[in-house]
Amino acid sequence: MDIADQAQIVSAQFHDMAMENRRFDLSPAPARKTGPSGEPLCLTCDADITARREAAPFAIRCVDCQQDHDKRNR
Ligand SMILES: [Zn+2]
Repeated sequence: MDIADQAQIVSAQFHDMAMENRRFDLSPAPARKTGPSGEPLCLTCDADITARREAAPFAIRCVDCQQDHDKRNR
C-alpha cells in the first residue's frame, strides 16, 4: 500500500465521521435531564417536557424557559 492509498483511506474515514456527526445532529437529542421514570425534564425549571419533545425532539427546556433563554442570547 502506498501513501496515496493510505491518504484515501484516512480521508474516507474522516468523511464517514463527518456524515456520522451530521446524522447525529438531525436525530433527536437525548434529554439533558431526566426524572425518576426517565421522563425528560426542562434543563432550567425541571418541568416535565415529554409532550414538548414529541413536537420538538431537540427541546431541552420547556417553552417558557426556552423563550427566556432565546431572549437572553439575542
Ligand atoms: Zn422550564
